[in-house]
Amino acid sequence: MDVNVVAHPLVAHKLTLLRERSTDSPTFRRLTEELVTLLTYEATRTIQVEPWDIETPVAATRGIRLSHPRPLVVPILRAGLGMLEGMTRLLPTAEVGFLGMIRNEETLEASTYADRLPTDLTDRQVYLLDPMLATGGTLAAALRFALDRGAASVVAICLLAAPEGIKTLRDNFGDDAPVSIFTASLDERLNEKGYIVPGLGDAGDRLYGVV
Ligand code: URA
Repeated sequence: MDVNVVAHPLVAHKLTLLRERSTDSPTFRRLTEELVTLLTYEATRTIQVEPWDIETPVAATRGIRLSHPRPLVVPILRAGLGMLEGMTRLLPTAEVGFLGMIRNEETLEASTYADRLPTDLTDRQVYLLDPMLATGGTLAAALRFALDRGAASVVAICLLAAPEGIKTLRDNFGDDAPVSIFTASLDERLNEKGYIVPGLGDAGDRLYGVV
């Protein structure tokens, strides 16, 4: 497993605006999409491609295209949905699956309430979208889901990560697991309620309001 913190002034700038408590929901949604697009650019450096022969108006040449099977993008509901558009803007031909997971706010344990994924993920490159890597329980369960179904590799894109969540994933998936994490920031810690500090609050509530 490898962890990548994307260091770029535009990422840091947009993340700062996202963290600010007075940022309203429409702006928060737009910034989330923009940040995910920037993170996707980095997270897809190892996406599988194949040679493709084409003709320009001037000459024949060889380029590349994305390989089959197509990458599978999986937002983890609810907050991951706010990241989907930012990702598919760069990968419009990706397939999209859905995983609904909720964490119990007392035990902080994750459970699955919706699964709209292919049962066989053999040879697939899977991209999980989950804005907040906090305790790591949700992401560990989602990664296990994808790897158990045969995924060739799983890349998780998170806006923020906490050291506690990274540790959970390292404890669950050794160095050799085909798992990569891409995040805009590795924050300080979790507070007693399991929120990332300094964080940005509840990502789902800030995207969609408290429901
Ligand atoms: N989920 C959130 O939405 N925010 C946090 O800080 C932690 C988990």
